[in-house]
Amino acid sequence: MQGKCAVITGSTSGIGLAYAKALAAEGVNLMINGFGEPDAIEAERSALEARGVRALYSPADMTKPAEIADMIATARRELGAVDVLINNAGIQHVAPVEEFPDEAWDAVIAINLTSAFHAVKHAVPLMREAGWGRIINTASAHALVASPGKVAYVAAKHGIAGLTKTVALETAEDNVTVNAICPGYVWTPLVEKQIPDTARTRGITEDEVKRDVLLAAQPTKKFVTVEEVASLALYLCSDRAASITGAVISMDGGWTA
Ligand code: NAD
Repeated sequence: MQGKCAVITGSTSGIGLAYAKALAAEGVNLMINGFGEPDAIEAERSALEARGVRALYSPADMTKPAEIADMIATARRELGAVDVLINNAGIQHVAPVEEFPDEAWDAVIAINLTSAFHAVKHAVPLMREAGWGRIINTASAHALVASPGKVAYVAAKHGIAGLTKTVALETAEDNVTVNAICPGYVWTPLVEKQIPDTARTRGITEDEVKRDVLLAAQPTKKFVTVEEVASLALYLCSDRAASITGAVISMDGGWTA
């Protein structure tokens, strides 16, 4: 992987940041992306560079197709290639369908699904030209099964599974693989933030949400770690995983078994 270049959306936090750290440790140059405090982002970016790779930051908003196109073009221009694309940016909104705000539906679909379409559309020609590529989409157990209160998220993640399979078929003869990772509950800011809303929606305490809602679905009764998810991504990037494409791979402590 030494010297390859990766674009990772939503990598200022959580799973995305873990992908960035794991790829940097393998010598991969990076374009990170996502929101947050400028000082905190700069600290993460320079910590990645301290591992001996180039690390650029793109502030592209995943709801804006022109900014996504510019992020991919900038990575190509400044890093020389887009060998690996990880579509990872995501948000959650929890409400029953009849109360689900239209703008929350639009934002979840834009960030969790449509942004991946735009990034893939611009990255695939570069990968074909280079004769090698890896696309990894962070889906979710919610790409395979549903939970109440998450209509937009579940629809977007099922959509990501379809996008993954379709692009895998279209690039199958080009040394490009396209796969989706489906984690169960991973302890990150995204999970932490949805606990109060889930508690309100279901009329239970926050501790009950953790025990009886989140980990109730996960037979191991443990949160997946960001490092576990990142290590699967590293494997999918390796040449040993060249025959894995169009796969929607669970890492969910047995949730969807
Ligand atoms: P997180 O909140 O820690 O990270 C989300 C990232 O997306 C952040 O970097 C954030 O700034 C970025 N982001 C949000 N809106 C954006 C926008 N408009 N433009 C650009 N970047 C934007 O969450 P996480 O848990 O690390 O989630 C990462 C991915 O993993 C998401 O796609 C999520 O659906 C998926 N996932 C998470 C879990 C879990 O339990 N945490 C489980 C399954 C799947």
